[in-house]
Amino acid sequence: MWLRGSARTIRRRMLCLWLLLVGLLILTLSDLFHGGTQQEAATPRRTLGSPDDSDAMVQFRDAALELVVDFPVNSLQEDQLLFVGSTQGTKNPPHNKKWGYKVLLPAAKKQDREGKETRQEEVSPPEVRHPECLGELYSESLPSASVVICFHDEAWATLLRTLHSVLNTAPKDFLLELLLVDDFSTRDNLKSMLSEYVSNLDGVRLIRSTKRLGVGGCRSLGASRASGEVLVFMDSHCECHSGWLEPLLERVAQDRTRVVSPIMDMIHWQTFQYNATQWPVWGVFNWNLDFYWESKPELLDKDPDLAVEPVLSPALGGGVLAMDRHFFHKVGAYDPGIVLWGGEQIELSIRVWSCGGSMEVVPCSRVAQVDHQRHLPYRFRDQEQLERNKIRIADTWMDAYRKIFYRRDTLAHFIRQSESPNITERLLLKRTLGCQDFHWYLTTVYPQLYIPQDRAGLSGELYNIASGGCVDYRPGHGGAIIIAPCSGTGSQHCDLNSDGEVRWGSEGVLCLGAVEKRVVLSECASHPPISNKQQWKFIKLSGQLVHQQSQLCVEAVKQSIPPSDGGSHSSAGDLFLRPCTSHPTQQWHFEQLVSP
Ligand code: UDP
Ligand code: MN
Repeated sequence: MWLRGSARTIRRRMLCLWLLLVGLLILTLSDLFHGGTQQEAATPRRTLGSPDDSDAMVQFRDAALELVVDFPVNSLQEDQLLFVGSTQGTKNPPHNKKWGYKVLLPAAKKQDREGKETRQEEVSPPEVRHPECLGELYSESLPSASVVICFHDEAWATLLRTLHSVLNTAPKDFLLELLLVDDFSTRDNLKSMLSEYVSNLDGVRLIRSTKRLGVGGCRSLGASRASGEVLVFMDSHCECHSGWLEPLLERVAQDRTRVVSPIMDMIHWQTFQYNATQWPVWGVFNWNLDFYWESKPELLDKDPDLAVEPVLSPALGGGVLAMDRHFFHKVGAYDPGIVLWGGEQIELSIRVWSCGGSMEVVPCSRVAQVDHQRHLPYRFRDQEQLERNKIRIADTWMDAYRKIFYRRDTLAHFIRQSESPNITERLLLKRTLGCQDFHWYLTTVYPQLYIPQDRAGLSGELYNIASGGCVDYRPGHGGAIIIAPCSGTGSQHCDLNSDGEVRWGSEGVLCLGAVEKRVVLSECASHPPISNKQQWKFIKLSGQLVHQQSQLCVEAVKQSIPPSDGGSHSSAGDLFLRPCTSHPTQQWHFEQLVSP
């Protein structure tokens, strides 16, 4: 437990008490000035502690939280919501009590324009589990779990919601401890106020890192202090559904080399709209080494039994991840060379699979996470650092296939030319554990991933002689491809393979084709047989790209009409099929940015 009772803590408490008194004084004064409405608005805050709760510390804690609402503490201004648990920590565990979150808005926003309403919402995740999951019975002797929540400058309310969400949903029999690991946060309220708060919760420990570790390093730190049989890593912005933990523990108990994840739903960071992820879903990555979840709901129609069965997954995201603690250490924890953010989940995934483990998504377990894509609680993202993380993955795990990555990410290629990662220890680990190579991983674990051929002269940026631009893709415009300035980053890479397909981008799932006379990108027809609508022949001598079905040539046509959506775009032209000529608008060249 976090140590309490030091002179510093007592001083801090005195300060808080003073603040509390000042707060009460201000409240009383404002009541005098504003009369009854304000009184009503304040009422819910006064009922935070359950009336029969005689624990002075709990009362004190709630009072401190109230102050946070009423005073414009700078670091809390972004936190629109204040967490109020319906149960007080774990001291009075919820017996048959429906748990929920009440959400209070800051005082200024509590009144509507007429000044009468107190806005209070009940926010708990909607039931999105399959009905069959609700009746599932799990063994009573599941392994114990340590939940490890790393955070760096997470919003106070979000962090506390996550924490209480775990405490409210994880059965006490299995939840051994919850470790909050502070990855060197800078926010004021995450310092003594958080220590204070946590010191009153049973089974919750706060660990502080003295330097910034990043996602993987922070998790490894948490894991080294954990004593549960199973580690459950969780992001600091999650909401757990009831019954989320048991199915995960059961799968790990059955096979200690299994690494499992719940279905991760999404909560919009601003509107709090709940987006249930479609099942079946699994984690994958592309040749750019970017991770994403892929849903294939249509598979359920073919096989309804799939509804509640775990599915194997080539990779898993880090939102929530459960694995045996000994297996975690044995397999090499998180790669300490992957720093700050990005790539750590892909590295762990390839390693787990290649070195004797497996990964799966368990559909009866559901956790939602706040999607903060555009609203990171901390400033990042050092693009070059992210590239270095990817370089480590490529060089440690991808053997000769790493070329495919470097061709699609030329920044990584150039960084790699001037510096090499120190991966000696990881390569040693790989040898010691007797891990499989990447070819095995691609063929056994992730055969869905298209393996580009990237032949010399038949892959790279597709450069047009007349316009001096390259073929580019505008997602979300009916598969429209255009001529745009050549990026040189690898983002315009395509690959004319021996089946005659021109495969686009880092997933390789989109193919060049034609709708009437317009050249478009659409999903590659599953082969065999390959649709000849998507087959091409490149004549190196003339630079012509010939559509096999129509025997017409691809021509770059200068854009004369503004785009129909009214938006401006930087396109220098569109692509059409035209009778073949030797005009430079029909002359193409595959520009290889990284030699094969
Ligand atoms: N995190 C951390 N240190 C860092 C960056 C992130 O401890 O340097 C925490 C972060 O607070 C979150 C988790 O690691 O709980 C994963 O980070 P994030 O949610 O930003 O990653 P994403 O979900 O976008 O992959
Ligand atoms: Mn996250």
